[in-house]
Amino acid sequence: MRDFSTIRKDFPILFQEVNDEPLVYLDNAATTQKPTQVLDVLRHYYENDNANVHRGVHTLAERATEDYENSREKVRAFINAKETAEVLFTRGTTTGLNWLARSYGDAFIKEGDEIVISYMEHHSNIIPWQQLAERKGATLRYLPLTDEGFIDMTAAKEIINEKTAIVSLAYVSNVLGVINPIKEFAEMAHVNDAVMIVDGAQAAPHMVVDVQALDADFFAFSGHKMCGPTGIGVLYGKRKWLEQMEPVEFGGEMIDFVNLYDSTWKELPWKFEAGTPNIAGAIALGGAIDYLNDIGMENIHRYEQELVAYVLPKLHEIGGITTYGPQDPEHHTGVIAFNLDAIHPHDVATALDMEGVAVRAGHHCAQPLMNYLNLPATARASFYFYNTKEDADRLIEAIQATKEFFKDGAI
Ligand code: PMP
Repeated sequence: MRDFSTIRKDFPILFQEVNDEPLVYLDNAATTQKPTQVLDVLRHYYENDNANVHRGVHTLAERATEDYENSREKVRAFINAKETAEVLFTRGTTTGLNWLARSYGDAFIKEGDEIVISYMEHHSNIIPWQQLAERKGATLRYLPLTDEGFIDMTAAKEIINEKTAIVSLAYVSNVLGVINPIKEFAEMAHVNDAVMIVDGAQAAPHMVVDVQALDADFFAFSGHKMCGPTGIGVLYGKRKWLEQMEPVEFGGEMIDFVNLYDSTWKELPWKFEAGTPNIAGAIALGGAIDYLNDIGMENIHRYEQELVAYVLPKLHEIGGITTYGPQDPEHHTGVIAFNLDAIHPHDVATALDMEGVAVRAGHHCAQPLMNYLNLPATARASFYFYNTKEDADRLIEAIQATKEFFKDGAI
């Protein structure tokens, strides 16, 4: 097993000063940094193998195709899908969820059907369903939350019923950090002949994902949140659904035959991948998966929970601070949303940046959640496995300095 104290050296970007202070990067829920190993894969591909995939018979095209498809196999193994035909490359979680609302939605959703999501969803797991509900005359329903920030399971048992056609939930909330019991929701969905869709954007980078054990029908995630490049992501879908769904985009790469007035599609997974894909991105995502596997997803999860267990009580010791989501590290990933009494979260984030500490402030693409919690915004520190207890201490010190600075309403 790799020693977590030596991991930082793989991330050159972390070794810089921001506002004359060593950078502490705690905005990992927005995007993660890339290790040299992944940057090397990108560079190697462009320096040695760059060619378009699936079309050429020349050597470079064959190498690029082989690497691209090998990456699909790495993704398959990473999420334990049954076969590579069930792994579609996308631009990211948002694209995956939009494809589903369009393609699964058009094929299967009828007037009067209910689509169930929760109040803690990211906008990309809300708006596609709003649009689908409007197109089809379906109803969008929200699962309420408990005071601790869990989905209210008693209410869920009422709301998920025989009218439900889709249940679509975040595995991990990008604000509350809570891990949702997807397997239980999948059971509730399936008993009612609904499908279980998982927004895995904040889960896949941080914990072991097994789509078969979860019995998820679909699972979407983004490469850039797990050490891979931007512009590449994955949509997993069970073959039985993907076979019955139409592609969302049409063009090169995805066709079998094109006649003058109609065409036929390639088999899975390629029928969904129209046009030149993000070849370098997919190959580098494979590199990111190799990198994460080398550390071990269980180790990453355990280490991040240790960091949360370390930092949460220290945050509360500061006083005048509210954190959101479950307080028990067992149910909390490295995402910690917080507010300081009487200081606007944007001012908190700006003040922390002055100390070299990068956090995010705002609604975190979760406006319905902010309204539900009656908050205009929060600050958010989000940890990844290359963060250390020293980073946590720097956060605490910077918050203390911020509190001190704003003590007399100074700005
Ligand atoms: N869902 C959740 C829970 C997220 O945190 C994010 C990214 N902030 C997304 C979806 C969207 O991911 P992307 O922007 O990579 O498509």
